Amino acid sequence: MIPITRPLIGEEEKMRVLEVLDSGELASGYWTRQFENSFAEYLGIRHAVATSSGTAALQAAVESVGLVRGDKVFTTPFTFISTVSVLVACGLVPVFVDIDAETYNLDPERLAEAMEEYPEAKGVMVVHLYGLPADVNTIAELAEKRGMLVIEDCAQAHGARVKDRHVGTFGKAGAFSFYGSKNITTGEGGMVVTDDDLLAEKVRMFVNHGQRERYHYEVLGYNFRMSNVNAAIGLEQVKKLDFINRKRRENAAYFNRHIDNPLVLLPKEPEGYYHVYHQYTVRVMGDRNRFVQHLVNNGIGCGIYYPSCLTEQPIFQRAGYIDTGTDIARQAARQVVSLPVYPGLGLEELERIVLAVNSYRE
Ligand SMILES: *Cc1c(COP(=O)(O)O)cnc(C)c1O
Repeated sequence: MIPITRPLIGEEEKMRVLEVLDSGELASGYWTRQFENSFAEYLGIRHAVATSSGTAALQAAVESVGLVRGDKVFTTPFTFISTVSVLVACGLVPVFVDIDAETYNLDPERLAEAMEEYPEAKGVMVVHLYGLPADVNTIAELAEKRGMLVIEDCAQAHGARVKDRHVGTFGKAGAFSFYGSKNITTGEGGMVVTDDDLLAEKVRMFVNHGQRERYHYEVLGYNFRMSNVNAAIGLEQVKKLDFINRKRRENAAYFNRHIDNPLVLLPKEPEGYYHVYHQYTVRVMGDRNRFVQHLVNNGIGCGIYYPSCLTEQPIFQRAGYIDTGTDIARQAARQVVSLPVYPGLGLEELERIVLAVNSYRE
């Protein structure tokens, strides 16, 4: 069975982890700071604050940007739970805006309409789904005109760019995840990035019990820190990020050239966008369950990200949200299937995946 994903871990990560274990300093410390510095340098941003997960990073960002209870925030209904659960945790009201059918990301035209309808909203939580940047230039421009702030959920898009600019550097803050399946991983982990000195300091306090000075608690905070053990892995993973993304793009290009089945629509990469293919996601016309079963019968693992919209989740129905239309997102949720695209796939495996997809019939 070809799994849906597999991390690229080598001797370098193992050596670094041993270095931490031998040091006796396993909690957040020297290696965490090194990892933060190297990630900030990679993105070309002033600050990076490591966290225990991507969700913790998102929450730290949302808590620290200056939004207040009851504020409305535009976001996509077609994403992972934490993009929106952190808004609810902060007492904010999600305003769902539909996605673009080709990019699966927030549709800027629909967002502009929603901004007309809810001019009192204070922010936009944008997601770069599957590793493809959203139209973040247009979105940031729309937000700026109305004095709204932008937060980027970059959990699936390490190293993704629009022209030469990395995602995570367009908004007031960006949040990354280093969960085991992401393009680079620390097992569990996350990172908040920002160019804003004051915001960086607030985030650092929030993830460390609200203290700047030891045992002096200025604000309510938590232990959302990243350990040296996790950071040691990340330190080596960052060095491999460009290689990993190039490999994923090569695998995606192979699929684009060889998948040929009228029932299977391929992903698109708009001009000027650098897609890092966290997922290679196709759209299946007809019975998706049969397609998935066909892949599994042929020894190909696959995933469905995501099988439903967040508007349908009981938690958000209870917490309350505004829905400005989710038809496109709902259709995507019924049709998408993600294929293995991880960097360790060999040519023989790529061929098997193509063969399985091409031999599917209704
Ligand atoms: C993975 C992911 C998260 C959450 O990251 P964790 O590290 O699992 O907490 C948030 N948003 C998106 C879009 C993700 O894919």
